[in-house]
Order: sequence, then structure tokens, then C-alpha cells
Amino acid sequence: MREGLTVEEAQTTILGLTHPLGAETLSASQAANRVLAESIDSGRRQPPNDCSAMDGYAVRVADLRGASAESPVALPVVFEVAAGGHAARPIKAGEAARIFTGAPLPAGADAVVRQEDTRVADADVEILVSPASRENVRDAGEDFDVGDRLIEAGAVLGAAHLGVLASIGRSVVSVHQRPTVAILSGGNELVEPDRPADSGQIVSSNSYTLAAQCREVGAEPLYLGIAEDRPEAIEAKLRAGLRADVIVTSAGVSVGDHDHVRGVLERLGCKLHFWGVLMKPGYPLVFGVIESTGTLVFGLPGNPVSAAVTFEQFVRPALRKMIGHRSLFRPVVRARLTEKMTKNAGRLHFVRVALESRDDGLHATPTGNQSSGVLTSLIRGVGLVIFPAERENLDVGEEVDVQILEPGFFDRDERGF
Ligand code: AMP
Ligand code: MG
Repeated sequence: MREGLTVEEAQTTILGLTHPLGAETLSASQAANRVLAESIDSGRRQPPNDCSAMDGYAVRVADLRGASAESPVALPVVFEVAAGGHAARPIKAGEAARIFTGAPLPAGADAVVRQEDTRVADADVEILVSPASRENVRDAGEDFDVGDRLIEAGAVLGAAHLGVLASIGRSVVSVHQRPTVAILSGGNELVEPDRPADSGQIVSSNSYTLAAQCREVGAEPLYLGIAEDRPEAIEAKLRAGLRADVIVTSAGVSVGDHDHVRGVLERLGCKLHFWGVLMKPGYPLVFGVIESTGTLVFGLPGNPVSAAVTFEQFVRPALRKMIGHRSLFRPVVRARLTEKMTKNAGRLHFVRVALESRDDGLHATPTGNQSSGVLTSLIRGVGLVIFPAERENLDVGEEVDVQILEPGFFDRDERGF
């Protein structure tokens, strides 16, 4: 087993062993935010006919050359066609038909004059403008035609996709399955949040954070509970997770006398691919694959911030790949530091920061105590400054990369335009 990988090496190893899940068929109305596992071609034309974009009169351009408010041209209105209706017959030279938005254009007509550009005169209409060919006409197939490729496999189904599926009459679609993620917490000191904790005990929060992170990606968390620091206890709980696509444990992967997770995983037939990533928070991370089932196993560190940050860097991209996404990573923006930062060379640090938008761009301010036990700092921070492994100092005013963790970061209090 390799030890002490860079963040990039660890991600490359994980993603190399992670594959998109198979497809399932869903009702299109249930498929919002899912990743399409098939490409969608149109069996229809939209709109199906040439139709009017306005309320007005269907006309022949040749009849109206030179028409204006000063010299209107009067045409007899020979029939009416409304949306959902059909033209009674073609219009002939010198005729007009009353028409409404969305109604099919009668044969023979080649433009629509808006009703605002006309005057009614008994059974005739006076046309006050000289329309261009096809003016105010929506061409048949202007949106799409039979055989057009409308949506590529791999698209994330948003509102417009679902509207387009509806408009071609697709009520079921094939999408990638969502991974199930079994989550296990471990440690003799842990109690569930609804139990009274005496001194020396810690309320287990990681399973809540991790389950929410799974849901945010679109994976389905399954909670396995808290295992005591005994190999048999860990093994019993982990066995219940073997049917999941992914197992995420927190704590017990370090080198302490009570850290049994790695040993148990090996006993369960898990091939461990690496241990330890050159990062802070979160060095003690183990990754493996259970060979009989293909289940990916992430043994995350126990400290709440380490667990959350390692989930972000390693589990989240893998889950996105399984779900069929092509873009696996969080957005990164550039920001200027408001404070100097120092560390030793060797490990990449992810520093929790708040971001402020000023006239000259974004400014990043660390959220204070960066201890991996201070989970509240992840509430105050919207992102992580990437403090590269080889760097020892980042100066005030220096431009750095910030990984945005909070999707709502791009929402704004003001309209912005
Ligand atoms: P360990 O990796 O077992 O050495 O745990 C590191 C630290 O994380 C310890 O202080 C644990 O109490 C804490 N910790 C472990 N699991 C959890 C959990 N599920 N929720 C909150 N804190 C935890
Ligand atoms: Mg422990």
C-alpha cells in the first residue's frame, strides 16, 4: 500500500478506480437534477407548423408593397384562425385572414401584420404597413425538427431539459443510478445526539455532516451507527454496509492503539490502495476497494473538519463520477488575502475563509482558529484557500485560489445588473 500521497495523486488513484453506475428508468417528472444516461433525439417538429407570433392578420407580402399609414391597403377578411384551429382554406391574392398568436399560418400567406398596424373597416382590414416576407411568422421546426439531437447523454436535467422532454412527449428517461453510501462512525467516546453525554463523551456529529454532504451530491446515505473501538464491533457494523456502493467511515484510521479500521477492512477483503494524504486538515485517510463487491471504501479521519474536508476533496468527486457527472470538482475563484499565512513546506493546507466582494475583486479572510475540531469555522467560511504544499508563506494582498464549498455563494443580495 502506498503512503503519503499528494492530494492530486490521491484523487487520481480514487477516480481511476471509480466508474459511473448503471442506468435506471425514471419518470421524467422525477428526473430533475439527474444525469442523463441516453441521448435524446426528437421524434417531433417544434412548432409543428408555420404559425403566427402575433395577434393580427395573415397576408401575402406581394399584396402590400408600398402600404403605409398614409396609403393603407384594404383587404377582405375571408376567415379567422385561432390557436388550436385550422385554416379553412388557403388565402388567395388580395385576401387576408384574421389570425391569433400560435395559430397555424394559412397556406398562401407569407407574413402576419400585427393588429396594431391595421384598422378595421367593415368586412375589410386596412393594412398600414408593408411587411417583410415571414414577418411575425414562427417557422415550423424553428426550435427543433424530427431527428434533431436535443440532449446529449451526460446532461444534468434542469428545468429547460424537462420542458423539452415534455414537448417531445417523453415521459420516461434513462438516468444514472444514485450511489448508496453507508456511513459508520467509530469511537468509544461517541454518543448519539439524543443521548445525554457525560464528561469524556463526545456527541457524534460526523455522520450528520457526512450524510448531508452525500445528499447534496445526490447520493443516498445509509447510517450504520457508531462502532466501539473493538475490531469485532467495527466488523459487525461494516458488514451491514457491504451492499452499498460506497462505505465512508470516520475516525479510527490513524496509528493509535485503538485505530482498528484498516485492519478490519483488510479482513473484509478490502484492497487498500493508499494511506495518508499530504494535506491539512486530514492526513489520516485510507482508501480501498472491497474486491468481492466493488464497494469503494473511504476511511476518513475523525476530527469533524478533517472528515468534512476530506469528503469534499475525495468522496464528493468520486460520487459525482458514479452519478455520471463530467464536471467532478467544486468551482475555484481567485481572491486576495487580507492576512498573511505561514506554514511548513510539505503538505497542502486547505484554509477555511470568508470571502468579501469589493470593487477590486474578492478578498479572503481566514475564519480564525483552524483546528480540525472547530466545525463552526465551516459555517463561517464559504471556501477553502489552497495553500500549496511547497509554499511556506502567503502574503497580504497575494492572489490565491479559493475552492468554493457553498453553492449559495453565487447568489446575491442585490440584483447586480
Ligand atoms: P480519531 O480519528 O479516532 O483519533 O478521532 C479524532 C477526533 O475526532 C477525536 O477527538 C474524536 O473524538 C473526534 N471524532 C471522531 N468521530 C467523531 C464523530 N463521529 N463526531 C464528532 N467527532 C468525532
Ligand atoms: Mg477514535
